[in-house]
Amino acid sequence: MGLLTLGTPLAWGDAQGHAAHVRRHGIAQFLHVWAALKTRRRDKLLWGDEIEYAVVAFDDAARAHDVLLRLEAREAAANGQISWSFKPEYGRYMLEGTPAGPYGFLIEDLLAVEPNMRERRALAQSYLKENEALVSITNFPLLGVNQPSSFLDPPSSPTPSGGASNSLFIPDEAINPHPRFRTLTQNIRERRGSKVAINVPIFKDVNTPVPFLEPAPPCLVQNGENKTLPELVPDAKPDHIYMDCMCFGMGCSCLQVTFQACSVEEARRLYDQLAVMTPIMMALSAGAPIFRGYLADVDCRWDVISGSVDDRTREERGLDPLKSSRFNIPKSRYASISTYLSPGPLYSGGCSQDPDVFSPMVTTLPPPKDTYYDAKYNDIPLVHDKDIYKELTQNGIDDLLAKHYAHLFIRDPIVVFTEKLDLDDSTSTDHFENIQSTNWQTMRFKPPPPLSPIGWRVEFRSMEIQLTDFENAAYSVFVVLLTRTILSFDLNLYMKLSLVDLNMATGQKRDAVLKEKFWFRKNVFGNPARRPAEFDGFAVAVPSVAAAAAAGDSYDDAVELTVDEIINGKANEFPGMVPLIRAYLSAAPNLSYSTLKGLNEYLDFISRRAAGKIPTGARWIRNFVMGHPEYKGDSVVSQSVAYDLMKKVDELGKTAGRVAGYSL
Ligand code: ADP
Ligand code: MG
Ligand code: MG
Repeated sequence: MGLLTLGTPLAWGDAQGHAAHVRRHGIAQFLHVWAALKTRRRDKLLWGDEIEYAVVAFDDAARAHDVLLRLEAREAAANGQISWSFKPEYGRYMLEGTPAGPYGFLIEDLLAVEPNMRERRALAQSYLKENEALVSITNFPLLGVNQPSSFLDPPSSPTPSGGASNSLFIPDEAINPHPRFRTLTQNIRERRGSKVAINVPIFKDVNTPVPFLEPAPPCLVQNGENKTLPELVPDAKPDHIYMDCMCFGMGCSCLQVTFQACSVEEARRLYDQLAVMTPIMMALSAGAPIFRGYLADVDCRWDVISGSVDDRTREERGLDPLKSSRFNIPKSRYASISTYLSPGPLYSGGCSQDPDVFSPMVTTLPPPKDTYYDAKYNDIPLVHDKDIYKELTQNGIDDLLAKHYAHLFIRDPIVVFTEKLDLDDSTSTDHFENIQSTNWQTMRFKPPPPLSPIGWRVEFRSMEIQLTDFENAAYSVFVVLLTRTILSFDLNLYMKLSLVDLNMATGQKRDAVLKEKFWFRKNVFGNPARRPAEFDGFAVAVPSVAAAAAAGDSYDDAVELTVDEIINGKANEFPGMVPLIRAYLSAAPNLSYSTLKGLNEYLDFISRRAAGKIPTGARWIRNFVMGHPEYKGDSVVSQSVAYDLMKKVDELGKTAGRVAGYSL
């Protein structure tokens, strides 16, 4: 969660008029940061996670917001002498917990994350009442269900024709009371010109009606009429679960990892390489098989959250010819990235010579030509603001970085605070952050805040939250180790971005980990000098980018692999990310036995889940529902089934996963 400004947010009608101002000054603010910090070097690989939790009440009371206020007061009084931090999130029932400051840059420090997560969970739990639970589940299964009773406590009714959401299902009381969140909700809807419309395919079980036509919610039923939801609401599709407001997506919980790079060039390189991994890690962390009380035919939240903040006008969505909107925009502002950021010709070395850096194997960086980027990988037509592009390039920003920001800045600011309009661009980044932080993409490239010790960072944003701290630690550690391994072995994961987008669609399908194939680059060793000997048997060795170009597509081939093959390897064809990470660790000097043992537990877990030996959270939840004696085979997750599920999820969190029928 980013900074929450105090002040008076403008309604859409007023905010709209300030969009150009915010964009212009946002870019000016970025240019100040760039001029001051583009040569910032030798930052350490500090990193941190963000875990979003929901507070659920068994029988009554969802008070996460009250708990948050007390945690914040305690944090303020502690004067920095604490190891955790809690922040608000979109839902009033949500909390976001992070470490107080980033973890250290040593491999040993990776083992600090799980104890820190446990401490956060225990602490927040200690503020709850007897009948409440802190859960880390991607989506609360009854979110938006009002029958037989309200999913919210205290109970309240949705207000379809008033307030911020105008939802048929979710009352505004579910939203965090900070004005930013309601304003975001209302202004997204007003900018779009209608409510958001999300349709997730229903999972068709043996007794699911064909076609599946949901009965209309009570607020739509007039004179006892017996009409279905799709009959009354044109946006609601048959055979789908329909959702109509921001809370359905932003009210979900996810796991994000931010890490600092040693320089802007390294940050850009990691941004690109990891972008390829975002769909794979989304599929591997799948945790959302239920929406609004129905089993869905998808396992992930991604398209739901993407649709939940889709503020594009009809013109921008290509439904009407462009008249008052400026661009045709193919994606929501919550979406996969649309352009690689490669260091390109800027690549000028780095800073890994420090004796104490995290990655002891990197002693020199590859020469500029070996950055592997090629324009052909950026194969998605990139909508961007030509004037902003020009402004940036005229101020010395290279083509790719200028395109990146000219792309993010096609969006309007959604929340504009009256008090924050006129700012000193040389010291403030508020306008820049306004647009930057409402581009919710799979990766985020984060420039250093002005006048701070913080360096260039990259955020990995596609993963779903896991039910236990062990799992959340395992995914976080895996991603951090992946960054080290990519840098150490100089891996090249580039493939066309259109294929990464296909993988995003594939990764959300039910049981994608087991059943689907994903595009992936076959030849990941771009630099034979950096290839560990045990992988000599793999793929074509191409000595330089020039030779790669000569070798053409055979060098660049993307092949279709399962998640298991990508993570664990495929004999004679693909080395696998876990074996690569193990090779990285085995070459790291002075690792203690206990560190290695701890890290191996995480790697073993990731490896077994990828291989299907341990079900994903989504599969486990599905099995729980479908095996429940009260489940009727009709895709409906009733209140009592959801109750038992949440009891089990609570127990899982509290016992660190030691519950019969749950494997880690
Ligand atoms: P967001 O941009 O999503 O609001 P935050 O600023 O809250 O993210 O931080 C996300 C994570 O980044 C936290 O775990 C935090 O500890 C970590 N973090 C803070 N400073 C640094 C740093 N210098 N390098 C890397 N990670 C950092
Ligand atoms: Mg968050
Ligand atoms: Mg974040």
